[in-house]
Parts: sequence; structure tokens; C-alpha cells
Amino acid sequence: MVRTLFALALAPALLAGAAAQPPAPGTDLSGYREYLLEAADAPKNGAVTVTFLGTTTLLFDDGETQLLTDGFLTRPPITKLLNRIETDPKVVDAALKKAGADRVKALFVAHAHYDHAMDCAHVAQKTGAKLHGSASVLNIGRGGGLKDEQMALFEPGKELKVGKFTVTVLKGKHSPPLKGLNDDLGQEIAKPLKQPAGFRDYKEGGAFDFLIRHGDRVALVNCAANFVEGARDGVRADVLFLSVGALGGQPKEFRTAFYDQTVSKVKPKLVIPIHYDDFTQPLSDSLRGLGDTPAAFDFVIARLKADKIRFGLMQGYTRAQVFAGK
Ligand SMILES: [Zn+2]
Repeated sequence: MVRTLFALALAPALLAGAAAQPPAPGTDLSGYREYLLEAADAPKNGAVTVTFLGTTTLLFDDGETQLLTDGFLTRPPITKLLNRIETDPKVVDAALKKAGADRVKALFVAHAHYDHAMDCAHVAQKTGAKLHGSASVLNIGRGGGLKDEQMALFEPGKELKVGKFTVTVLKGKHSPPLKGLNDDLGQEIAKPLKQPAGFRDYKEGGAFDFLIRHGDRVALVNCAANFVEGARDGVRADVLFLSVGALGGQPKEFRTAFYDQTVSKVKPKLVIPIHYDDFTQPLSDSLRGLGDTPAAFDFVIARLKADKIRFGLMQGYTRAQVFAGK
């Protein structure tokens, strides 16, 4: 089962040729440097910044309130996935500190797979944030000792105020499952999940996306590379955080439909790819891609160019301004 992940992470490096040195893991993304977004200062006067912390972990900040998605920061190395995994508090705390995550009021977790949810209990405890999630995600919280009053079950479609942010949880759809790796879609974590646990114990439990408003500006965080036909009709966003995890390996018809049902529907001015990085490697400012990341990037970039929409890449710990101040 872990072989698929091995293949995703290592195949391109192995295919790259017979180097004398062992190949660096993950896929080199230096060819996409021209798309890197400019690093921003701390937000002021109503500006909103987002710091990218790998996979679908994003720290939104308006200078007063911070919101976090997923909070997956342990990023266990691939060798650890063969055994049971657990949150590494030192790694998580250091990443939160480096990102300046000291005013996080709410943590929204997209689904309960380990690469989104495994650190949610610790992150909520450390920051004091309320954990928002599916029933499965809340069972990860409970297993980590989180009290029910610090957790809230998703109510899709309902607007939730967090400081000056308004968050609406939208029903989403997980990327097409990979056999033996994440083919548990719709299955639930039915009781509190204690660590250490096998990565396969983190059942999907339903997949969700987040519409985040601040004043009259809107960001959509599309947490998995899939779509429900027509589900984003009438949804508009200035900035779209677009998961490209496992997109590059999909047939052209799927990729086209995915783009049509996400970007073409919400008509953003800026698209920022997420879940593109090799998450078996530590979070850093030189993240490398998964095996199929270049194929996904090339596809998305070509469509965006034709639509005159900007593609903006973020490296680990990049803080970018997504909404300007007044
Ligand atoms: Zn997943």
C-alpha cells in the first residue's frame, strides 16, 4: 500500500538517471520559479495575507484574527508510514512559531486522512483554536484529548463568523482514490482515534472545501482535486487555492472537467496551487513536488494563460498578500 506513495514520491527522481549521488526525493520544481508570489509583510489596514505551510495547510491573517486550514505539519517520512504514526509536537510547534501563528481562532480540517488531519488535536490545544470538522475529524480531536466545547461539527452551507472573516464550509469531493492508499472514501472514524495509529486508520469521513470572505473579498480553498458537477454554480472567488494532488496522473478529460467545474465557475483573478508538495519531506522554503506535480502545473498553467488568470506559486512559509488593504 505504501508502495504507491513511494512510487509517487521517488519515481521521478529514480527516472532522472544514474546519478553518483542518491537522487533528492520529490520532484524538482525550480522550473516554476517565475510564478513564485512575492513575499508580503504582516497585514495591516484591512489587508489579508496567507502563509503556505505545505499540502492544504494555510494560515489566513488580517492582522487581528488568524484562521488555519488542516494544520498538518508533522509530515512523517515515508519510512514511518510503514508503522504507526503520531504528531511530533516539536516539529508542529516550531512550524507554528516560524509562521507566527499566535492568534489562531479557528482550525478547519478538510477531511480526516492523515495528511490533512493527524495534527488537528495538538494544533487546537497549542493555539487554543476551535476545531471545525466532520464527525471523523472530531473523533481525531477527541482521541487527542480535545474537549467537546473546543470542537464544532461542520454545518455545510452555513456562514460562520470568525473575527472579520466569514467561513462557509462547502461539500467537496475527494480526488479519485488510489488503491491501497486512500480508497476508503466515505468511511468514517467512528470512535476517538488515539495516536499512534496506522495512516490507514485515518478514514476520509467526507471531503469539504472552504469559502472564506473578508469584507467584499472572497477566497475559495478547494482542498481536493475533484468536483461535483454544478456544485460551484453561483460561487465566485477572487482567489482560488486549488488542490492539484493526484491531478497530474488523471486522464485529460478528467483534468478538463475539473478545471471547468472549479476555475471556470468561480472566475478568480489568481489561482494558487496547494497539495502539490511531497509531504513525506519536512516543511521548508524549498518544497519539492510529487511525481505528477509538473504535469498538473503544466495543465493548469496552460488553461489559466488562455483565460488570462494569474498562477501564483507559494513555497513553504511564504506569506503572500491575497487581499490588499484599504
Ligand atoms: Zn485524502
